[in-house]
Amino acid sequence: MRIDLHTHSDHSDGTDTPGDLIRAAEAAGLDVVALTDHDTAAGWPQAAAAAAEVGITFVPGMEISTMFGAASVHLLGYLLDPAYPPLVSELSKVLVGRNSRVPTICAQLQEVGVVVSEEDVMRCSGAAAATGRPHVADAMVAAGIVASREEAFAAYLNPGRPGYVRRYAAPLEEAIELVAGAGGVSVIAHPWGRSRALTEEALAGLRARGLGGIEVDHQEHSLRTRDALRAIARNLDLVVTGSSDHHGTGKVNHDLGCNTTDPREYERLLALAATSARSTGNGGVPDSGSAG
Ligand code: AMP
Ligand code: ZN
Ligand code: FE
Ligand code: FE
Repeated sequence: MRIDLHTHSDHSDGTDTPGDLIRAAEAAGLDVVALTDHDTAAGWPQAAAAAAEVGITFVPGMEISTMFGAASVHLLGYLLDPAYPPLVSELSKVLVGRNSRVPTICAQLQEVGVVVSEEDVMRCSGAAAATGRPHVADAMVAAGIVASREEAFAAYLNPGRPGYVRRYAAPLEEAIELVAGAGGVSVIAHPWGRSRALTEEALAGLRARGLGGIEVDHQEHSLRTRDALRAIARNLDLVVTGSSDHHGTGKVNHDLGCNTTDPREYERLLALAATSARSTGNGGVPDSGSAG
């Protein structure tokens, strides 16, 4: 059984529709796929319908933008109730924060001679729930200013670069509690991808607040990093996941199924979600296709 628990569609900064993403996952030989768009569940219905059609299991998820102190941390939430009001209100703060900085980004870019309009950027965000830096990057690619999203981030959009503008993110501990309250289970995405702010001690504290697991097998982690994180997961009794973090053509070297989650770890994750759903009355079980 091949399981990929972290992918993006065009409802955030991926490039496939949720339906195309699920069909591509089936074609890639995956049996279980989670759609985890940034801060939105908008792609779930389309993904669930496509999964039922092709006979694979769809796991509803999202990747929530959070802060742990000064560090940006991405939190994956699975099998949660997307209508849980405290979650909806927190996500809307994140989405509004992302949208509202676009004019400032465009103005700052203009100061260094890079001309992309808000309209250019909006055209690139299409079906997305909010307009993010990847869409600004796409507008820069379309204008021939850079060759790729990667180049746009490195030259203009990363912290310290001229087009960078901060935005709101949810406090991590609060986001973990929101996922639990919504009947779901949470997993830290690529915990040591760009920073090491989440030490073993910090992860132990988050575990006590309800964290269910950590994503170990991810393209941003070296083999050595994966080993170290696996040892921490064992010490803290956290579920270990692996995933592609697929973004369609938006990120190279993140093909569907390039990393996968061990079926036993997936079962542990489902058990945690079921406990959370029972205790809150929210959330649910994945939509199983024939492979479920
Ligand atoms: P935002 O949340 O709008 O600030 O955009 C951040 C998102 O951009 C992240 O969640 C990534 O998916 C994406 N991203 C970050 N760095 C890069 C990069 N170097 N190349 C492509 N996408 C990136
Ligand atoms: Zn992304
Ligand atoms: Fe991420
Ligand atoms: Fe992601």
